[in-house]
Amino acid sequence: MRKKWWLLGGCIALVALIIGTVTLTQMRKTNVRTAPATENDVVQDDVSATEIKTTKAWVKLKHPLKLPILMYHSISSGNQLCVPKKQAVAELTYLKRHHYQTLTTAQAIRALTTNTVPQKKVVWITLDDAYQDNRKLLPTLKKYRQHVTINAITGFTHKSNHLSLAQMRSMKATGRVDFASHTVQHLDLNALTAAQQKQELLASKQWLDTNLKQDTQMVCYPAGRANKTTHKLAKKAGYKLALTTQEGFAKLSEGRYNLSRLRVEPGISTATFADLIAVTNS
Ligand SMILES: [Zn+2]
Repeated sequence: MRKKWWLLGGCIALVALIIGTVTLTQMRKTNVRTAPATENDVVQDDVSATEIKTTKAWVKLKHPLKLPILMYHSISSGNQLCVPKKQAVAELTYLKRHHYQTLTTAQAIRALTTNTVPQKKVVWITLDDAYQDNRKLLPTLKKYRQHVTINAITGFTHKSNHLSLAQMRSMKATGRVDFASHTVQHLDLNALTAAQQKQELLASKQWLDTNLKQDTQMVCYPAGRANKTTHKLAKKAGYKLALTTQEGFAKLSEGRYNLSRLRVEPGISTATFADLIAVTNS
């Protein structure tokens, strides 16, 4: 009798073992299929998923788009061009909580040139000069799945307070940052000859195109200064848009090589920030 019970117990244990092993193998197979190799893969997948979703959802506006393009520089304290990390993070948090989509350069170009938007509230965040301290925003950008565009001075990438090429590459690989041109030497384009302007616009684009393996679509004029010749040369160099420091919402009617931005000043409250970017597009 006892032998029978032992035999029955043994059989049950064996069946349980087989079921357990099969289930575990299945789970592992599933994990192998779905688990991405790196964190970058996760982000890239998210980006493409968002792109697909937004591609379907873009809505044509009745009235010309007024796009808030935010202008930041250094993420630190010191002068009017520095916004402390705490403030910048509070602003990113505001944008997240209030359902703003932070556009990539490609999305901003599409929005402005086709007068369509992926959703009601959009904003394009730009940071000029490509300071090292811009990296402080990465954890928040990853956490909230937000995006910024950094305007790099390509002749400054060896300077200690500016992003190096390696850092730019690794930031770009997160899918949270893209890079545009802020020329080679950050000179006042207004004060240069046409040939010198052409060199600043072309050489910086070529540097970014080659080193970041991209077709650089936007140039941001140093100190916002440019003239009619600059606009023509920017177009000829292959840029699709150019940004100034003129204050206001960007509108295609200003000219796509002459777009206004909204300066984010240090010390402003989140309520002031909210007022700054508030606009109704329909
Ligand atoms: Zn600058």
